Amino acid sequence: MNTPLTPTTSSTTATATTQAIWDRTLAKLRFRHGDATFNSWIKPLNFKSASATEFGISAPTRFIREWVATHYLADIETYLKEEMPQLLRVELQVASDNTNAAVTQDHETAIKSEAIYSGAGPAAVQKDDGKLVSLESVSSPLDPRLTFENFVVGKSNELAYTAARSIADSSSVMGGSNPLFLYGGVGLGKTHLMHAIALHIAKTRPTQKVVYLSAEKFMYMFIRALRNKDIMTFKEQFRSVDVLMIDDVQFICGKDSTQEEFFHTFNALIDNHRQLVISADRSPNNLEGLEERIRSRLGWGLVADINSTTYELRLGILQSKAEKLDVKVPAEVLEFLAQKITSNVRELEGALNKVVAHGKLLGREITLEYTQVTLSDLLRTSQRMVTVEDIKKAVADHCNVRLADMHSERRARYIARPRQMAMYLSKKLTPHSLPEIGRKFGGRDHTTVMHAVRKIEELMVQDKELENDIGLLTRMLQS
Ligand code: ADP
Ligand code: MG
Repeated sequence: MNTPLTPTTSSTTATATTQAIWDRTLAKLRFRHGDATFNSWIKPLNFKSASATEFGISAPTRFIREWVATHYLADIETYLKEEMPQLLRVELQVASDNTNAAVTQDHETAIKSEAIYSGAGPAAVQKDDGKLVSLESVSSPLDPRLTFENFVVGKSNELAYTAARSIADSSSVMGGSNPLFLYGGVGLGKTHLMHAIALHIAKTRPTQKVVYLSAEKFMYMFIRALRNKDIMTFKEQFRSVDVLMIDDVQFICGKDSTQEEFFHTFNALIDNHRQLVISADRSPNNLEGLEERIRSRLGWGLVADINSTTYELRLGILQSKAEKLDVKVPAEVLEFLAQKITSNVRELEGALNKVVAHGKLLGREITLEYTQVTLSDLLRTSQRMVTVEDIKKAVADHCNVRLADMHSERRARYIARPRQMAMYLSKKLTPHSLPEIGRKFGGRDHTTVMHAVRKIEELMVQDKELENDIGLLTRMLQS
């Protein structure tokens, strides 16, 4: 895989200068991208060789190479060109030195002809000692819809997706990303990515043994084995696995003996160059009730977070799901849902399914109005939380006063009235108490807030314009 680079003008001075160019380039990259990015992605790169027109860099793993190629290579080229005006090509390759090759080989010979996921795979496998171990009992079933093809990628899940994808594509263990630790809030796609890895490997490399299970199931199996005094079999089940995926490990936090066993299984597999994929609802650092050495080991590989969705991603997901339905869902309905249901992808899917199912059942066309009525309950609960800050901004904007005047001591009517409106809206639209609201308005007393609320209520009765303004601001803030 190592295509030789254009030979260098291999005088020591040339190498020394190019190394210096590389060092300066690194410094610029660090400045531009910050320490965290630099340490994860750019620092592991090494200068390999250079001529006047070419510059060769190596990355320790394929994954790092791919990530750098799509995210930082353009910058690397720009900075190198500043010093090497004749530069035509930057070559980024994987440092496939002997250690890496050894890993691959070792791994290949370890693969047994076992398949648990391919549709035709055997339900049980003959172990070396002739004992039958039911593999189906180890692994949880996979949902065939949770594929990479059905996963919509956006900024918030790009890193997790790319990492999962490269594990699924790579037949050898990827040094820099073992274990792969996926974390993010509920319903953001962790389980989907794990299933996608398993489905992809089952399809492309059916001889590899992939086990996917929830941490809860792992724990349950472990406890059952303890009870039956059959820990050996329990261990045996995991020993020959090529890719082990354990979902929702936050469940084994605080469960000491399960944790311990998990750790041993984990270490044994990593030491044997098997791939591990772990998910949790929070980062390794934030997993409470987990022993320190386990926590730190979980973070050794690649830690990839899935952030909350953006509007664009939500719309993309809805469009992709809607395409697969046999009814037509108008674009404005999808846009409406993407705007309103922001909590997570599971809820988003649920809302779309509900509208479609109702529509079908009642033989109704799916319109925006129909959607609003069908989902009215759901929409009320998932209404966006309005903050006092949002309110202050909206009111200041609307009434043409400075945001700072929301806190200021000034009592002029043209400032005091908007401030009272903002306090009134804060009381109506947020769960904050009167004293809390007072504090957020420049440390005012709760009686001031109470007075403001009453005042606006009174005024609205006589002042149609004020009533309209409040109505408008309320709708705007809640949309
Ligand atoms: P988690 O395990 O993080 O709680 P899941 O993987 O179970 O979340 O995802 C919840 C639902 O949302 C699943 O039906 C999944 O298919 C869907 N989903 C999540 N992210 C995406 C995405 N990026 N593209 C398509 N579907 C997604
Ligand atoms: Mg999950």
